Amino acid sequence: MPDKTKTSDRRLAAPGRVAEEPITATTRAALLGHRGAIVWLTGLSASGKSTLAAALEKNLFRARVLPVVLDGDVLRTGLSHGLGFSDADRKENIRRAAEAALLLAEAGAVVVTALISPFRADRRHIADRCQVRGVAFAEVFVNAPLAECERRDPKQLYRRARAGQLPSFTGIDSPYEPPLAPALELRTDRESVEQSLEKLTALALNLARLPGAAAGARGART
Ligand code: ADP
Repeated sequence: MPDKTKTSDRRLAAPGRVAEEPITATTRAALLGHRGAIVWLTGLSASGKSTLAAALEKNLFRARVLPVVLDGDVLRTGLSHGLGFSDADRKENIRRAAEAALLLAEAGAVVVTALISPFRADRRHIADRCQVRGVAFAEVFVNAPLAECERRDPKQLYRRARAGQLPSFTGIDSPYEPPLAPALELRTDRESVEQSLEKLTALALNLARLPGAAAGARGART
């Protein structure tokens, strides 16, 4: 693990040096003690993305890793306000979320996204953008069968979709393309939130870890 205290002490002692030193992903990582990354949660509505993203945010914070959650429902009230659920609008919604996630990850945060993101090509595009920009990326399939998601229906969206009140609802009358090779698959119909969260936290901490730093060295609790 890099000695963060030493680095900041040296900079405080010689503030003039800070301006001379270019601020890069490496210097940001030295400041924070971890690198930026994107953990992209994909899955049907009610599969568990928001629940896991919020819980992961807390775990990362406890482990002294800077987390940011980008939740699809929240993004649609701001950054993606005005976009609907046509294929083109979904694509644009995902593109905006991905670009926002990239900016935040480049600033050093571990970004956890909770969006259905139903199309493989769109998710592939995000992975490619991350590769080009040198940002660590992991696709996580939050997987519960449609029947289980409909049974949960925490926001009564499936009920409304079945009643014809929500056209182009993923899983009902709009497709969901499951990941072919996700970094992690969580069967949330078979495991508890705690079990899913433990695996997810381990993945996120590993992704954010600086090369050479020991796992759990920052007091991670999973
Ligand atoms: P999404 O964000 O994917 O639409 P939510 O997180 O809003 O889904 O809702 C998922 C529901 O499933 C919550 O009520 C949650 O408590 C429940 N659930 C049951 N098991 C799990 C699990 N292993 N992981 C995440 N959520 C789970």
